[in-house]
Amino acid sequence: MSFQVESLFTAALGLSPPWEAARVGLDTAKQRIDFEVISTAKRLACPSCGAVEQPIHDRVRREWRHMDFFQFQAWLHADIPRVACTHCGKTTQVPVPWAREGSGFTLMFEALALTLCQGLPVSQAAKMLRCRDKQIWGRIDHYVTQARAKQDMRGVTIVGMDETSLRKGHEYVAVFHDLDAKRLLFATPGKDHKTVQAFAADLKAHGGEPAAVDHACMDMSAAFLKGTTENLPNAQVSFDRFHVVALANEAMDEVRSAEWKTEAPRVRDELGEISPKERRSLLWAMRRNPVSWSATQTTAMHWLQRAWRP
Ligand SMILES: [Zn+2]
Repeated sequence: MSFQVESLFTAALGLSPPWEAARVGLDTAKQRIDFEVISTAKRLACPSCGAVEQPIHDRVRREWRHMDFFQFQAWLHADIPRVACTHCGKTTQVPVPWAREGSGFTLMFEALALTLCQGLPVSQAAKMLRCRDKQIWGRIDHYVTQARAKQDMRGVTIVGMDETSLRKGHEYVAVFHDLDAKRLLFATPGKDHKTVQAFAADLKAHGGEPAAVDHACMDMSAAFLKGTTENLPNAQVSFDRFHVVALANEAMDEVRSAEWKTEAPRVRDELGEISPKERRSLLWAMRRNPVSWSATQTTAMHWLQRAWRP
């Protein structure tokens, strides 16, 4: 290829001296494009101690998967210099600016894979990227671990905890949120009181203080309550609105059903005056929530209420 094409790809790959694209090979049958990247430096700084102008001991052959160029699968190849340092005595491989140490993907490819995985199942992203899903899972593990290690939980005082099922069935995950900052702090398998213990330990490991949590919001599970009492000693517990409303609805249904049992005979007497069809419709409506009554049923009910007055 001409000189301009290699320069173009040096720029396209974001390479800067001493790195440059030396050869570009396009295989249209295999639908792949291969870049040979070289380091033009004769001497390099020691990656271990930073001593400058150290001699190159040897080179190690490596390759990396890069983002596709249209339908072509792109690969980078390079002989990576190892520096024999006269200062510290170590022989160290120099890091490359386009990839993490030990990764067979370039940083751009990893970034694309992780971006796709935010909106797609990993298996589908792997299919699109033409790689194995195990390779992507490895990267997700790496970056999630790295991001979690940096997570700062200082100042967390209001915590929300809940359980969610992982798949259909009974695999549960307990999740803990910082309700002030509206962020997920911790997730762990299970839904027993030990999940709160694990959360308290993780909170501590990230600069937070279990004793500083003054409020915990949860469903009405005895396990979370026990875990909170034992591990978040100063937290005042409140049950979240959703569960309270659900309980209130259940109680309302019970009352309605009990009332129906005592009132039913009386209603049947009153309804004796109207047609059997209307009677059936009203008896049915009595069992249901008034918001679902038809206009006719509502009018009839109001009439019945007036007629019932003792
Ligand atoms: Zn050194």
